[in-house]
Amino acid sequence: MSTTTADEVTLSAECTLAQRPEYEDLHRECRQITDVPLPHSNGLLLIKRCGCGCHWSGGAS
Ligand SMILES: [Zn+2]
Ligand SMILES: [Zn+2]
Repeated sequence: MSTTTADEVTLSAECTLAQRPEYEDLHRECRQITDVPLPHSNGLLLIKRCGCGCHWSGGAS
């Protein structure tokens, strides 16, 4: 009983496509970096933010 379920990562359409070698530029097109709550509801998300690694901050440049 040591099955660990990885957190589900939601990727935007852009970043999903950007996983393909020839579509890497699409990472730039992704604007889905914040959670969008569903109006008139508490806690429900209309759009979950993109979990793609290209949005991770912390790079020194
Ligand atoms: Zn993204
Ligand atoms: Zn991305």
